[in-house]
Amino acid sequence: MIFRCSRCLYWSNHPLGITFNDQGLCSGCQVHEEKDKIDWLQRSEELHSIFNARKLESKYDCIIPVTGGQDSFFTVHYAIHELGLNPLLVNFNRTFNSKEGLRNLALLRTSFDADLRQFNINPSVTKAVINCTLANLGSLNWLWIAGQTSFPVRLAIQLDIPFILWGAHQGIEQVGMYSHLENVEMTRRYRREHDLMGYDENDIFEFDPNFSADDIASLSYPTDQALLRSGVRGIYLSNYVRWDPTAQHEFVNKTYGYGGRKASRAYSFFDNPDCPAYFGVHDILKHTKFGYSKATDQLTREIRHGRISRAKALDIESRLTLAKPDGIREFLDWMGVSPATMNALLLQHSGEFASRVLEGEWFKEDFRSYFPGKVFRARRNDSYLDKDYQNIGKGV
Ligand SMILES: [Zn+2]
Repeated sequence: MIFRCSRCLYWSNHPLGITFNDQGLCSGCQVHEEKDKIDWLQRSEELHSIFNARKLESKYDCIIPVTGGQDSFFTVHYAIHELGLNPLLVNFNRTFNSKEGLRNLALLRTSFDADLRQFNINPSVTKAVINCTLANLGSLNWLWIAGQTSFPVRLAIQLDIPFILWGAHQGIEQVGMYSHLENVEMTRRYRREHDLMGYDENDIFEFDPNFSADDIASLSYPTDQALLRSGVRGIYLSNYVRWDPTAQHEFVNKTYGYGGRKASRAYSFFDNPDCPAYFGVHDILKHTKFGYSKATDQLTREIRHGRISRAKALDIESRLTLAKPDGIREFLDWMGVSPATMNALLLQHSGEFASRVLEGEWFKEDFRSYFPGKVFRARRNDSYLDKDYQNIGKGV
């Protein structure tokens, strides 16, 4: 039986894994409480000492992976103005970009007068990988996450840059996977198991043998031996700074002009403005697989920071998750995918969603209405649902 946390809006089937105490309080809420107990000034000094301890021979002190959204502005701001570092900004081009995201990325580079390296995979391979992961994993984001988590690491080794400074650790932020005080750093295992839903670039070969070794190499993560030899470390800023994305977004919006993007299903427009599909196809996929959407993440965050009551958040969530998603047609046109194919994909990956409907839970809208056209007509018998349940927990 799926249930919710007694404080936030997360369900017990959260794809990153979540645990509950005797009072029904989730691990994410428990670890969030550390934010009001930790001496953040001391933590900041610890971060300074990490960077100061390493004698640098490269031009850059660290790499900062950036996009046209999320925590890029704040992380770069903190690195330059609080830590006094000279970062190399690194971007994996998602190819399917919003104009707001492109503007933010350009603004980031000029605001901080920073060097930026970008990696581009050609559009046809980009679409082929997305098509492959949509079909096999029900994931739109897999390629982009694979690229964003591997290119900075390859480049750090190649250029002999000792640190990569990431923004938030999502496992800690969302579900309290570790304490902030464990100083968790990037690992191949976390990337594969959680960021990439248990499948790395080598597994793409198994899904589709038509991909070339070059295609896979552009997403490859360095070997453990190469990482060990280089001594490259990936540090998460959210372990050393009291992490509050809403406050950070407002700060970088006022200070640098960081811009959001309106979306019908979003509570905050400042999250993921660079991806035109994030609150569209991605959000519907997330909803059909797990029964909750990005708005649930955003509202959970606001509850934990004490800016909204649970009752009000539930009310807003119920409205946003029924809102018609934006940009469906643009994405289908870009991918060259028909509405019927997208319907089939959604149905194929709708195990958890289906169970919610059967239990009469809160999401009652039929997702197929979002994709007008010929609707896939598979029989949803018991064995079909059983097959789908095996996919639960693999993430979107
Ligand atoms: Zn909770």
